[in-house]
Amino acid sequence: MVPAIRLRGLVKHFAEVAAVDGIDLDIADGEFFSMLGPSGSGKTTVLRLIAGFETATAGTVELGGTDVTAAAPFERDVHTVFQDYALFPHMSVLDNVAYGLRVRGTGRTERRARAQEALETVRLGGFGTRRPHQLSGGQRQRVALARAIVLRPRVLLLDEPLGALDLKLREQMQVELKQLQRDLGITFVFVTHDQEEALTLSDRIAVFDTGRVRQLGTPQEIYEQPTSAYVAGFVGTTNLLDADTSERLLGVRAEHALRPERLRLTPADHAPARPDEVRLPAVVVERIYLGTGNRVHLRTDDGLDLVALEQATGSLDEADHRGEHVTVRFARADVVRLNTDGES
Ligand code: ADP
Ligand code: MG
Repeated sequence: MVPAIRLRGLVKHFAEVAAVDGIDLDIADGEFFSMLGPSGSGKTTVLRLIAGFETATAGTVELGGTDVTAAAPFERDVHTVFQDYALFPHMSVLDNVAYGLRVRGTGRTERRARAQEALETVRLGGFGTRRPHQLSGGQRQRVALARAIVLRPRVLLLDEPLGALDLKLREQMQVELKQLQRDLGITFVFVTHDQEEALTLSDRIAVFDTGRVRQLGTPQEIYEQPTSAYVAGFVGTTNLLDADTSERLLGVRAEHALRPERLRLTPADHAPARPDEVRLPAVVVERIYLGTGNRVHLRTDDGLDLVALEQATGSLDEADHRGEHVTVRFARADVVRLNTDGES
């Protein structure tokens, strides 16, 4: 099938800065695709290249099989939702949503009907006569979405659209975005620096590192099988085992990653390790209550610092467990070998 978006050898330089440094990507029709990476890694620039707001230094952008590298923004069947919403303050909510149709010359009756329908899709059917300043942040975000979907684009580009919302609202909007994307069947390209958001929403994720895609995969692949210390460290918390440590513990001389939730803590004992596991005597340095569990900072007797995640027990036992002697156990199968992407 022809991908909704195809990027080939995409490069964008701003003077000396290679903001985008050679990107090849195929994004499927109807996919929820996220670009995840730290600030400055080139995510917004890629989005702007897709939308046509920037001109590529090299490479091509195809939409639905058509090369649009040289096409103007209005010639591309995509729509962008920006982080700051960019609503017109002096217009009603309904007029804001209908604006794009007015620019396209759609008649008044049809455009009002379609704007109302789009508002109902984002559950703001009763808010058409309000002004943007009379809405909450989450409602303004939904108006920005309605304004995009009313144009029925094949592709929606969203640049950190939930960044300005508080956690509770963000989680609620995440669910709504996902449902909306499924219901409308639109291809979403979603930019975020929030790893949890990317893991929750996406069909696939591209992890960005200084203008390049460091790893591409499903949320499970990115989280469970990171190929580099960069990805393992950016997506979730991880214990990095350097080559020396790995050789000592596992007998394999290569860097490895080990997720905190894979570590088991038991009272100190001297039982021998099973062949499929590693056991290490350790001391609890700090135990931090997280509500859903405890984050436990450990130092093994041979000087390795590890972080473990313990399930919450629900007890109100407030004993200070610092200095407690424990045995740390993990399955060899839970250790992920890194630098399988050919880079360090
Ligand atoms: P992200 O969205 O991942 O935070 P950006 O795509 O905004 O990253 O920026 C990538 C790099 O390109 C950064 O180093 C940024 O400073 C630079 N950059 C982005 N836009 C411009 C511009 N218009 N002029 C000069 N440098 C820019
Ligand atoms: Mg950005």
